[in-house]
Amino acid sequence: MTGYDTIAIVDWSAGNDTGATPRKDAIWAGVVRGGIAAPPVYLRNRDLAHSWLTALAQGEIAAGRRLLLGFDFPFGYPDGFGHRLCGTDDPLALWDWFAEALHDRPQGNDRFALAGRINAMFSGTGPFWFNGTKTDIPGLPRKDSREGHGMTERRAADSAATGAFTCWQMGGAGAVGGQAMTGMAALSRLRATLGDRVAVWPFQPLTAPVALVEVWPSLIARVVRDRQHSDEIRDAAQVRVLAESLWQAQQDGTLEPMLNDVPPAARASEGWILGLGHETALAAPTLRNDCFALPPGVTWTPVDDALALLRDRLRPVVRRETLATERADGRILARDHAAARSNPPGANAAVDGYGFAHATLSPGAQRLPLVAGRSAAGAPLKATVPPGHALRILTGALIPEGVDTVVLQEDCTVADGHVSLPALPKVGANTRKAGEDVTMGAPALPAMHRLRPPDLALLSAVGLAQVDVFAQLRVGVLSTGDELVAPGTSADPARTYDANRPMLLALAARWGHAPVDLGHVGDDRAALRDRLNAARETTDVVLTSGGASAGEEDHVSALLAEAGAMQAWRIALKPGRPLALGMWDGMPVFGLPGNPVAALVCALIFARPALSRLAGGDWVAPVAFDVPAGFAKRKKAGRREYLRARLRDGRAEPFASEGSGRISGLSWAEGLIELPDGAAEIAPGDMVRFLPYGGFGF
Ligand code: AMP
Ligand code: MG
Repeated sequence: MTGYDTIAIVDWSAGNDTGATPRKDAIWAGVVRGGIAAPPVYLRNRDLAHSWLTALAQGEIAAGRRLLLGFDFPFGYPDGFGHRLCGTDDPLALWDWFAEALHDRPQGNDRFALAGRINAMFSGTGPFWFNGTKTDIPGLPRKDSREGHGMTERRAADSAATGAFTCWQMGGAGAVGGQAMTGMAALSRLRATLGDRVAVWPFQPLTAPVALVEVWPSLIARVVRDRQHSDEIRDAAQVRVLAESLWQAQQDGTLEPMLNDVPPAARASEGWILGLGHETALAAPTLRNDCFALPPGVTWTPVDDALALLRDRLRPVVRRETLATERADGRILARDHAAARSNPPGANAAVDGYGFAHATLSPGAQRLPLVAGRSAAGAPLKATVPPGHALRILTGALIPEGVDTVVLQEDCTVADGHVSLPALPKVGANTRKAGEDVTMGAPALPAMHRLRPPDLALLSAVGLAQVDVFAQLRVGVLSTGDELVAPGTSADPARTYDANRPMLLALAARWGHAPVDLGHVGDDRAALRDRLNAARETTDVVLTSGGASAGEEDHVSALLAEAGAMQAWRIALKPGRPLALGMWDGMPVFGLPGNPVAALVCALIFARPALSRLAGGDWVAPVAFDVPAGFAKRKKAGRREYLRARLRDGRAEPFASEGSGRISGLSWAEGLIELPDGAAEIAPGDMVRFLPYGGFGF
């Protein structure tokens, strides 16, 4: 199965036309196309919904896209029901039966009467109950007083889904009986329109471009609550968030297992709820509390293993927005962008010169009559150039009919209304073909790409005046420690000036994020807790420094551990340990070491790529190259080492002292030397890895 380009979720309703003003308990549809959610669509009645769904499906099919289309009503009844009604277990025959039997108009339908008629076909009272009308309906009890009808109460799916209603209950808050009947009838019509271009899950193999699936937004009720906009109708939020979640699941590779995980009986006739039993994967867009957990039993984790884990588990935590391209420098694309126009849009001249049709001339020197006028950039010649004639043409001018070759003006002489050239150039010389750079519809830039100034040129040239990007990641920076004071505020030698905060804030800004200064807190757990709680409102992720070890004043690690979501990272790295990573009420916290040298190295090696992923960007590796060592050094096996270093005369030279308190070395350096995890004996001239600061984005 290939993936879906578009995912649409419909919140169905059996009710009557709900009027022009969007309101709850109507039909709502949420569409995510190429990863971008469109504003939810309000559909006031089932007739309109049918037209809209048909247009959506046909549009996707015509565009060559695959559509996953979900509905929040049961696609089947408990086993045996269909057989009683239409003599076959095929649930799609039951859909067609309902389409025939139910009279459905925007102003009302006869679903209660139909339920009564079906009940009459059963022994006892019949399976359906609840009369939503004022008049009594023969055979349809108002209260659940049924007996002897022989049907099971719930489908396997409804038993497995906590809180799901049965399809026998025709009305009352939360009931789905009416939705199932009207829904199956509507989907029967949609199938009739789309024919073999639609397949129904889980009854048919999903080989067609459109797949109809049964969904139930309550599976991710918590996620919906968290992500509902303040002014958004709940039904609208449900379909939007479920469509987004399924899209994310597809990105994560968890959608396919959901589609495959269906009990055999459900596959045959009852139907199943997509994502049932996979709620965690479906709710994944928020980071999981254990996302920083290191493999158990490992004492010192190699740097690469820790990075692989971050790369694997982190995902964007920022919303998406649309921006004018000219304002999007530094932003990260939230989806692939295709050229809206070819570049160049039309064939044009690459030089100032004279154009003609190559095939109309014989080889050798030429003397051609010039046609009147000229073709200039933005002011093309509208006429056709006759055979054997030449035209004055300027760089960037569209090439008119009758011209396929241009000769450079420096190679020509012009006299008496004629142009002479010493030889015939190659056919097509000095011309640019339409779309030779980028053709319309071709990929321009991929999702996860961080826009740079040249990208703005490309986007503009191919007609993308707007781009879908991620909102900037808000990176909070917090310093901890009783000893810290603002620079210059105390002469007390027991005080340390806060050096990490300005450094980390500046790094966040250089990396394209929105830095948020969270200030400084002392070694006081309550104050730290308050500060992190407050930060939840203003930041997406927090970098702390200090207090990350396991000592009695190490409150960052203690607090995160208390929240049950802390991982003390013992990384085989110098300088670096300790690192405390954790989730604070769903917000990632990177507890960096207090020592500024270690804080910088850990920020560059771990925080930079991690923040890039959280911001919606790609994983970023530092730029590194091998250069001869300008020093000698022996190191033991077991951990990776980073030395502050410069390049001088083509050799890497480390800072005079490896002392981790030497902040001056950070500033002296122009990059880092990376020494491998294993033992090494380095002599001058041996090759070592150099990582320039520039490759870390500053
Ligand atoms: P900690 O990790 O809290 O034990 O701190 C380790 C060392 O780094 C101590 O000497 C702290 O005083 C120092 N330190 C912690 N935070 C900062 C900071 N923001 N600026 C400068 N030094 C710091
Ligand atoms: Mg401290």
